[in-house]
Amino acid sequence: MLPFARVAILGLGLIGSSIARAVRQSMPTVHLSGYDADPAVRARAVELDLVDELTDTPGAAVMDADFVILCVPVGAMGAVAASIAADLPADAIVSDVGSSKAGVAKALAEALPGIAIVPAHPVAGTENSGPDAGFASLFNGRWCILTPAGDADPAAVMRVSTFWERIGARVDIMDAAHHDLVLAVTSHLPHLIAYTIVGTASDLEEVTQHEVIKYSAGGFRDFTRIAASDPTMWRDVFLANKGAVLEMLQRFSEDLTALQRAIRWGDGDALFDLFTRTRAIRRSIIEQGQDDARPDFGRVHD
Ligand code: NAP
Repeated sequence: MLPFARVAILGLGLIGSSIARAVRQSMPTVHLSGYDADPAVRARAVELDLVDELTDTPGAAVMDADFVILCVPVGAMGAVAASIAADLPADAIVSDVGSSKAGVAKALAEALPGIAIVPAHPVAGTENSGPDAGFASLFNGRWCILTPAGDADPAAVMRVSTFWERIGARVDIMDAAHHDLVLAVTSHLPHLIAYTIVGTASDLEEVTQHEVIKYSAGGFRDFTRIAASDPTMWRDVFLANKGAVLEMLQRFSEDLTALQRAIRWGDGDALFDLFTRTRAIRRSIIEQGQDDARPDFGRVHD
């Protein structure tokens, strides 16, 4: 039994276009409508045949939908929700894919009073953006975290959960504030560190940019992949998840200071103990199928 018959996707970038492709593959009878604020993205969505009906306004996309997913940057969620309020069927369920949840849930609830809202965050993505970057298998085996409010209709939560499972994801349900704390340490802080280290390396005076790029395989290269992530998306994530990110950053700074002290005092045991613990975490991630077990992330070396 299909969870929804008519799905509207607002924002047809990496995540929105991946959802469209995955729905086409796993639920081909579902009618898909779509809208994007960028006319170039709309034109590309037609060329890629991402949806059955591409509309010129957000309202037209949701008019007959039973499920609406907002796939725009976190900072645009409230405005997009407000722009569909007048055209949304009263019994439609609204969700989103934002990387931070408490602020988005509040913005959606304010813009759409009386509508069933089930916020979601698929913990899957790449450093690329736009409709060409999407692919149908993006969510396969990945977690999608739903953060419904305490008084959310369990039937609506169940339908959204089934939708994500149908497109390959595994579903967890969590309180929005807890989601924001967990993702602050697993995703947001690592992005902040990557942005910092790549910025620091590019600002150095005694090491040339040429050298940084030439010798990048020594660890720096893997940070540059994360630091290439979409600037709009990540600006919005840090502004929206300010509290949790600052809390995790404080913890991180303290741990970094402890490491600095261990290096200064030649405390090899402290360094060795930490590096042993962190290696075990990498192994657990691989054991749980959340990354490629091959060395160097499976990169091909001639
Ligand atoms: P993306 O590839 O940049 O796509 C976002 C699309 O939304 C763009 O085409 C953008 O158009 C459009 N848009 C912006 N404002 C809009 C509005 N007011 N109305 C309609 N469309 C609008 O970004 P993405 O990576 O798919 O991210 C979308 C959401 O998914 C974000 O909330 C992000 O936090 C979340 N997410 C991302 C990842 C990831 O790894 N990328 C993973 C999980 C969740 P313009 O080109 O004009 O800006």
